Amino acid sequence: MAGFGYLTTGLAAMLVWLGGGESAVGAAEKAKPNIVIILGDDFGYGDFGCYGATKIKTPHVDQIASQGVRFTSGYATGATCTPTRYALVTGQYAWRRAGTHILPGDAPLCISTNMPTIASVLKQAGYQTAVVGKWHLGLGSGGPTDYNHEIDAGPRTLGFDYSFLVPATGDRVPCVYVENHRVVNLDTNDPIHLSFKANLGDSPTAKTHLELVRPTHRGEDEIRAGTIINGICRIGFMTGGRAALWQDDSLADTLTSKALAFIRTNRSKPFFLYFATHDVHAPLAPNPRFNGTSQCGKRGDTVQQFDWCVGQVLDTLQELGLADDTLVILASDNGAGGEYAWQEKEFGHRVNGPLRGFKVTPYEGGTRVPFMARWPGVIPPAAVSDQVVALVDCLATAAAIAGVSLPTNAAPDSVNLLPVFRDPRQPVRDHVITQSGVPSHPACAKQIRVGQWKLIARTDGRHELYDLENDLAESKDLAEAQPEIVKRLAARLEEAIQSGHTRN
Ligand code: CA
Repeated sequence: MAGFGYLTTGLAAMLVWLGGGESAVGAAEKAKPNIVIILGDDFGYGDFGCYGATKIKTPHVDQIASQGVRFTSGYATGATCTPTRYALVTGQYAWRRAGTHILPGDAPLCISTNMPTIASVLKQAGYQTAVVGKWHLGLGSGGPTDYNHEIDAGPRTLGFDYSFLVPATGDRVPCVYVENHRVVNLDTNDPIHLSFKANLGDSPTAKTHLELVRPTHRGEDEIRAGTIINGICRIGFMTGGRAALWQDDSLADTLTSKALAFIRTNRSKPFFLYFATHDVHAPLAPNPRFNGTSQCGKRGDTVQQFDWCVGQVLDTLQELGLADDTLVILASDNGAGGEYAWQEKEFGHRVNGPLRGFKVTPYEGGTRVPFMARWPGVIPPAAVSDQVVALVDCLATAAAIAGVSLPTNAAPDSVNLLPVFRDPRQPVRDHVITQSGVPSHPACAKQIRVGQWKLIARTDGRHELYDLENDLAESKDLAEAQPEIVKRLAARLEEAIQSGHTRN
């Protein structure tokens, strides 16, 4: 495939591996392996060393790629957080369900509790299941989340045995951890109140209390016009819960310690860990020990903090003797944001590598993400695959690994990736559908990729068509020149929408 010259090394490694790996496959797949999904936040296609970054060092992320397979066409199915996470947990494209756009911090759970999830399927197969990190799929049933009592709907309702959450995002209120559906360290005499419409009492904002904003975080109040917490402007307003507020500088350490504790506690059982780190989403507030460690400023330092977290997980698996019995998948929930485009000129770092567009947009920079998997003995080392895979595929893959047959109504858009894990040349998807934008925005769109072709179907009725094989940067819209291809892909998209499923 044109534009993928670096395939050569991976293919060579794979061919060597194919020569003598069959017995290893059998041995590794006898028992139910553990499954760890590390989902980074807002990492772009160019952010890791194994995808070409040189100004940021990511040895632990790169280790997963060198010991496993790295995909060049791995997709988040949303160009923003919530839709991708919804699809990962349910195996269903988020656009099939209303209310799965970027959620405020008091939104109720957006997943139907009747729906099989990656956690409920694995729990049924005997796995201990956990989610640690950023949730952003809503909490509670019915109206706005009540954080002052045990939350009645959330990960535990969906099959997760353990949960330790950043409820929405680091830049949204509430800035508290929720462990097993209860706010950690909540003083009941200081209840949490939230609003995403108007200020609450005298909650300080950048407009009224600029002096409370850290110098490093000033100027962010245009999009984060809400309450200042820990010197950082947030989206939304919050009062109360003061004893429960997290410390932004130790957020990555805290989440990692919870993830490691879950692994250690369940070392002798099959376990599933969905580790959804907050890095490298705004606000960028890495622990001071990472300050200045990269050549790309605070964002680069935060990428390196993420890499440290990944290393902690890999080291713990190694220490416990579980590395060979654990499938580790690492990816990002969407591409890097356009607010970091300047890093190319300033630092020589292209957050989304050669791709056009950024988070939210319908171009590849929005949804084509770093995506890799390691499972020694099953996945050949140092492999590079240009097959299309997607985060919505995690559920069907997990079910196949656990030996569970999915009911026909479960995970309707999820494809088992085991064949391409075993043989990186093996096609598993003949198409993928992604979504971009936010409702009401004219760029809100669905994209369908079939082979080399990608159609953007915008909500304003316009189509764009790109030839990804010969024009990875999507520089030339071929919609007018290739009306038959537009028609074919548009029909394919419509069929996927109407049928309610894309998995056979
Ligand atoms: Ca994100």
